Parts: sequence; C-alpha cells; structure tokens
Amino acid sequence: MKVLITGGAGFIGSNLCERLLKMGHEVLCLDNFYTGSKNNIAEFLGNSKFEVIRQDISEPFLIEADFIINLACPASVPHYQKDPLKTMKDNVYGIFNVMENVRRLKIPVLHTSTSEVYGSPGVHPQPESYNGNVNTVSIRSCYDEGKRAAETIMFDYHRRYGADIKVVRVFNTYGPKMLENDGRVVSNFIVQALQGDDLTVYGNGKQTRSFCYISDLIDGITLFMENKSGFTGPVNLGNNYEFTVIDFAKLVISLTGSKSKIRFVELPKDDPIQRNPDLTLARKILGYNPKVDIEEGLKKTISYFKKVLKH
Ligand code: UDP
Repeated sequence: MKVLITGGAGFIGSNLCERLLKMGHEVLCLDNFYTGSKNNIAEFLGNSKFEVIRQDISEPFLIEADFIINLACPASVPHYQKDPLKTMKDNVYGIFNVMENVRRLKIPVLHTSTSEVYGSPGVHPQPESYNGNVNTVSIRSCYDEGKRAAETIMFDYHRRYGADIKVVRVFNTYGPKMLENDGRVVSNFIVQALQGDDLTVYGNGKQTRSFCYISDLIDGITLFMENKSGFTGPVNLGNNYEFTVIDFAKLVISLTGSKSKIRFVELPKDDPIQRNPDLTLARKILGYNPKVDIEEGLKKTISYFKKVLKH
C-alpha cells in the first residue's frame, strides 16, 4: 500500500515510517517540521519507497494514497502550549483536511488521539467507555479539547459518509527519536541524568503515568491498520505498568548510574494526577500485548540519548 503518514518526521511518525517500509509499504511522509525533525527521517531518504512532503496539516492538501495515518500535532506539553491556537487548528482544521482526502479517495484512515481526552480522570484505569473529566478553559485545553473535537469529527464523517475510521488513544510513549528538549518526563529525566543535572520532579512526584515503549505502540497501530473487522475504536494503546513520577526518577538515576539528585519544582496547572490505560479492548479486538518492560525500553532510550548528546 501507499501509506500517507502525517507528522511522519515526529517521534512516533518516524518510527512508524521505518516499520511500514520494513513491511514493504510505500510511505509518504507529510510534515511541516514544527516539532518533526529531518534527522529522524534522514536514514530513509535513499529509499525509493519513501517520499517527503513539506505541508502544514491545517492547510488543505490533495494527496493520492491507499491509507492515511494521522499523527500531525505538537504533542508534548510545552510544545502544544507554545501556540495554543495553532494546536487547535492542527487538530480541527487538520482532521477536516485529512477526512476530505479520505472521503474523496474512499480509503481507510487511522487517527491517533490521546489519553488526554480523559483529562484528569475520575475513573482509574481508564476504559474507552469513560467520557473523561476535561477542563474547557485550561492551558491544556487546546490539546485536550482539540483532540476530543477531532474524534467527534471522525465519527461524524463515519456516520454521515461511511468513512472507514480507526481511532487510537495513545498513552505516554517513549523511545528513540524523541526530541531531547521536548519537555516530556522521559526525555527530561534521561537528559538531566546523563548531564549530571538535578531531575526536575513536578509537584510531590506522586502523580502516576504508565510508559509504553515505542515498538509496542507501533505493533498496536499496525495491528489496527490490518484489522478488517470494521472496528472503529476508540481503543487505548499504551502500557499499563503504572509508576509514580518520583519512582520513575529514581529508576532513571539508577539505570544511567548518574550522581544527579532530585529537585522538586512547581506542578504545572491541570497536570492529571493519575493515568493508566485499561487495555482490555485492545487485547480482545486487536490481540495487542505490550512486551517491552520498562528497564529494557529505558536502556535502549538511554543509549539513544547518549548518542544524541555527543553530537
Ligand atoms: N514531569 C515531571 N518532571 C518533568 C516533566 C514532567 O515531574 O521534567 C511530570 C509531569 O508533571 C507529569 C508527568 O511527569 O505528571 C508526565 O509528564 P509528560 O509531560 O511527559 O506527559 P503528560 O502525561 O503530562 O502529557
């Protein structure tokens, strides 16, 4: 198939480009390089099955493809908050632009939504049937509400035009090709530990997250891509091994062998206090089963950041 990946030069996008090329697909990588990086895709440029299109998702575009995977959106908290109105446009205008291509070409589309649609969850772990607890007017809303609106738009294209949609809710994911300065907890802690700086734990560090290694997420996305049952999702993908942020900081210090200390700083506003995916649906419908344990995944990610920091 010829697969269009919007946001193909980002962290998840570039890992997905690699997997799809290995599977024998042609890949069209669309990116505006706002948070995507040319380094992430440099290794594919000599491959005749790989093509790059410089395009902003919030502007209309016409494309020929057999399948679209929509990943285009700044996704780390500091990046999506930098220009909140643009983040909203990437989500809302972006999904209309994607869906107009889907409608014209009559092709399937897989959209990556987010665990942020659950907001600060009142149900734990979060099943897809939980409708969330989201603030419409907070500094996180541009992303949370943008992603919620994008899901709504997809389901309305599905109901009105019969569009073949697949919606994934991605939980915290980490691994090689993350940006070292994107402000996420995994990249911050590893880079701080490798540089001998204090690890900045926000709040008291008792908030929880569960971290999925990138290859497991890519397994889930490709399983869903290949699923022909008409299942639309939304379906959670991630890892359900839950950590407090403070325990996570200690693990990073121990795996890097760093002498760094922990420094507590102010908790950002509306930071969800707990998050963990209920993976029952993903297991049942897609046969999804995350395999990479946190130590193994972190070791690979630490080696990646060691190389990046040398340059
Ligand atoms: N966090 C932290 N120190 C950092 C970056 C993040 O303690 O340097 C915390 C943050 O407050 C949140 C968790 O780690 O509770 C995950 O943050 P991240 O930005 O990676 O993703 P989120 O799940 O909030 O989108």
